[in-house]
Amino acid sequence: MDIGFIGLGQMGCPMAKNLINAGHRLRVYDLIPNAVDLLVKEGAEAAHTAHMAVENADVVISMLPAGEHVKQLYLESNLLDSINTSTLVIDSSTIDPDSARLVASEAKKRGIRMLDAPVSGGTAGAQAGTLTFIVGGEADAVSMAKPILQVMGKNIFHAGANGAGQVAKICNNMLLAITMAGTAEALQLGVEQGLDPQVLADIMNNSSGGNWVLQRYNPYPGVMPEAPASHDYQGGFRVELMLKDLGLAEQMALSQTSRTPMGALARNLYSIHSAQGSHARDFSSIMQLYQRHIDE
Ligand code: NAD
Repeated sequence: MDIGFIGLGQMGCPMAKNLINAGHRLRVYDLIPNAVDLLVKEGAEAAHTAHMAVENADVVISMLPAGEHVKQLYLESNLLDSINTSTLVIDSSTIDPDSARLVASEAKKRGIRMLDAPVSGGTAGAQAGTLTFIVGGEADAVSMAKPILQVMGKNIFHAGANGAGQVAKICNNMLLAITMAGTAEALQLGVEQGLDPQVLADIMNNSSGGNWVLQRYNPYPGVMPEAPASHDYQGGFRVELMLKDLGLAEQMALSQTSRTPMGALARNLYSIHSAQGSHARDFSSIMQLYQRHIDE
């Protein structure tokens, strides 16, 4: 298939690579020319504008930071007017559900099918092609998208109508932020009582405290050689992006007066951590918020 791929960052780059490796023809665009060059080396064709990337594509995929970027791309730069009605548009960015619904409804007015399909699984899942896609949109468009999504992911959930993918993803990330902070807190508590973090992690992971963070993304440096914590918290999922998702959870909660006290606490912790200079580190670096007093 001819695929236009826009947004080649931590997630978009490995997702695009997997599509190339599966034999699809990719035309790629990013605001950062180096990001485009990296994919050209992998066999993609460079697009010098977003409009060039989508021209005559069977599928358009975008992987951008936030709702304002997605609205800027599809609405303010009139990209939808350059997309054929036969093209399926998949936005995999994590954004607020209202922006996802707005862009999808503008696409629909032009006869274009559009899905929100945010992902879970992090950069490791993007590289391995094992992401979970959480999709919002019409069932026939979801069926059309499946063969493409299956190249980049192993689980594909249809959450409901447009925007529902974002709602489910934001609930998940609020839970992840809470779990990460709680896991870091428990590890540091044990370490300050003299325990080895690896031993404590093994015990909790095989006890009732076991969770995804302990299984795959331990925040304590050196416990998991492949985790961002063992690489000075570089790569992975930036604190500023987690903070964005916690802000989206809070917006959703306010809109229905839902009670999310743990989400609000996690947002506070991440916001303090970000303001202390950690905005560009991986979100597991929240560990350092608990450790900081040792050096002070
Ligand atoms: P990133 O900042 O590394 O990449 C975003 C890319 O989009 C950048 O290369 C940027 O130059 C490009 N971009 C921004 N506006 C653009 C525009 N108008 N046209 C073309 N390119 C544009 O971010 P990321 O970590 O890849 O995350 C992307 C999305 O995926 C976010 O919504 C994030 O919340 C979500 N996400 C990230 C992870 C993770 O582990 N990093 C996991 C799940 C979901």
